[in-house]
This record gives sequence, structure tokens and C-alpha cells, in this order.
Amino acid sequence: MRGFVHTTDPVRVVFGTGTVNRVREEAERLGARRTLLLSSPSARSVGPVRARLGPLLAAEFAGAAPHTPVEVTERALRVLRESDVDGLVAIGGGSTTGLSKALAVRTGLPQIIVPTTYAGSEVTSVLGETENGRKTTRSDPKILPDTVLYDVDFTLGLPVAMSVTSAVNALAHAVEALYAPEVDHVSEDRALEAIALIARALPQVAARPSDPDARTDLLHAAWLAGTCLAAVGMGLHHKLCHTLGGSFAMPHAATHTVVLPHVMAYNAPAAGEVMRRIARVMGVDDAPGGAHDLIARVGGPTSLRDLGMAETDLARAAELATAHPYPNPREPDREGVEALLVDAWYGREPGASSRGGPGAAD
Ligand code: NAD
Repeated sequence: MRGFVHTTDPVRVVFGTGTVNRVREEAERLGARRTLLLSSPSARSVGPVRARLGPLLAAEFAGAAPHTPVEVTERALRVLRESDVDGLVAIGGGSTTGLSKALAVRTGLPQIIVPTTYAGSEVTSVLGETENGRKTTRSDPKILPDTVLYDVDFTLGLPVAMSVTSAVNALAHAVEALYAPEVDHVSEDRALEAIALIARALPQVAARPSDPDARTDLLHAAWLAGTCLAAVGMGLHHKLCHTLGGSFAMPHAATHTVVLPHVMAYNAPAAGEVMRRIARVMGVDDAPGGAHDLIARVGGPTSLRDLGMAETDLARAAELATAHPYPNPREPDREGVEALLVDAWYGREPGASSRGGPGAAD
């Protein structure tokens, strides 16, 4: 038997439809009597949470913003202190979850997260924050949410374009977990299950966005993939997306969507068995090509140029993403990474430049 080390983070997960009805009971379970309800300016599902919290709602802050700016956290902290808050409830995507984590790490308050995207941040003890244009990441047990309340109903109205990019963000957690050096069979099983669910449910959601069964599968996959992100270190794909988001202001989930098939193609020569397992659960012959086709079929973005990246920034991005060593199946050398970014910029087939075939010269 292969030895392994597995840590299970102590997050209570409540999953289903209509679980918002349990938010008050879950807050009471954490001993919270005066909660701060967090959301973003464009959040649509705050009403049901507000209503269910009832007398446990002490204050609201609807200013969550992408990349967790420290000045937003400081404004929310003032509201928290003025209202004598003893618990946090956050409804929204990864940005709102980030604000809740930033407040929890500063105050030690318990958190309930109600995710409305597939970002997976709700089950990790990692927080990325921005200050003076720089994004830094830290990990702390206080960052880890206490309770995650997944209510499929809140995802039924997630626009298809965001559903696609957010689901590929989850797919990326599962793919990179499979070739992490420390992965164990618990995370492997979860990652493969997440990939199978996403490959099956994403086309169904693109065709019928409020299909409850397909939405349930995607949210379930997001949780499974999030636990993989929490359990093992990520590789080149996450390093590149972090660089593109942090240093070139590229949108988080859409960037993941464009880059993933290209990183898979880059890593494939050194991770053959992982790619075969991914292809098998996706029901395709080739994992990078299968990921690319899935994204194209559901109308997801396939080119960094279309996302607004300047071609002249590609070399710098490759340099930044390869400046320090980190675990990845194939060593991330600057030329190879720049070549994959060029493929991603033009929206070519994954691996086009390394093959030097058609499409590599446009
Ligand atoms: P997001 O939270 O910024 O949401 C994007 C937009 O979608 C927002 O305008 C939001 O209001 C809207 N939205 C969210 N749910 C909706 C719904 N159900 N219906 C309609 N609109 C909805 O984007 P995201 O991709 O969820 O999260 C990205 C952020 O999360 C990034 O800052 C990223 O770094 C972070 N993140 C962190 C981790 C971690 O472990 N620390 C993991 C993944 C992502």
C-alpha cells in the first residue's frame, strides 16, 4: 500500500436546495447573536438570507470587491465594531467570501459562507488580499470558514457565461490536484468525481441554465474541487492565473478558463497517467483537447486577446510565473511557458506551438 498524509479541514457543510432556511439555526449553533451580513453591490440573493436571519441580523455591508482590497476590509471592520457583531454571514462569490475571511482573520469571528459561484474559496484557509496594487496571499486556520451553506437555489440564476468560467475554475482545482506531489487517494477520488460531474453537467447548464439536477451536480463538483484545493498545493496553472490576475488585472475565472487547456497540454508529456485518467472520466480521447472542446462547446472564452491582455505583456508574465521554483510535473521553463501563453493569447488548440502544426503560425 502507498503511504499518505491527509488532513481534513474542520468545515461543516450543509448542502441541498432551500438550505437558506437553516441559516439562523446554523448561526445559533456557532453562538452568534449579532451577525454582519456581507455581500457585493451586484448581489441578488441577499433578501432571503436577511429574512431568515431575522433578529440575528445586526448590520449589513454590501461592498465586497474583487481581489479583497484592504481598504474595503477596513470599512467593513468599522461597521463590524460599531454594531458589536459576534458572527459573519457572507452570500456571494469568491470576492464576498474573501471579505469574510479577511474580517475573520482580523477578529477571530465565526463565519457562515453561502456560495453563489463555483470558486471553492469557501473551504480553504487561504486568503489573497490587495493593497497598493499588490496581491499577497496568506494561510491561517482563522481564515477557514466554520460553516458552508450550499443552497443550489442561489445558483439557478448564475448567468451562463459566469457559470462556465466559474465551473472551469473548479475544474482547474481538480486537474492540478491530481498531479500535486503530495496528493493522496482521497483527493484523487474527489478530483476525478468533480471532473466527471463538470464534464457532464456544464453542457446541461449551458443548454438549460436553471436545470436543478445539473446545477446540483456543478455545485457538488465545486465543493469536491474546493476540498482538493484546500488539501494539496497547486502547480503552473494556478501560478500563471495568479500572475495574470495580480500583475495584469485579468479577470479571475475567465483567465482560468482560457489558460487551463494550454497548461494541461504543457504538462501532459510529464503527467501521462493523470491525463489518461482525466480523459477517461471526461469520456474523451485526449484530456487537454477535451477540456478545450468542452469550453468551446459551452461558449466559454478561449483567447487571452479577447479578455483584453496585451500581447506585449506575455513575455513578462512568463518571466514572473517562472521566477521561483515550485512543484509542477514538467519544469516551468520561461520559453515553454511563453509559448503556451502565445497559444492561449491567439486562442489556438492547446499544444499548437509545441507541435508546430497548423494554427501555430497565425
Ligand atoms: P466574484 O465573487 O467576483 O463574482 C463575480 C460576479 O458575479 C460579481 O459581480 C457577483 O456579484 C456576481 N455573482 C455571484 N454569484 C452570482 C449569482 N448566483 N447570480 C448572479 N450573479 C452572481 O467571482 P468568483 O469567481 O466567484 O471569485 C473570484 C475571487 O475569489 C477572486 O478574487 C479569487 O482570487 C478568489 N478565490 C479565492 C480562493 C481561495 O481559496 N482563497 C479560491 C478561488 C477563488
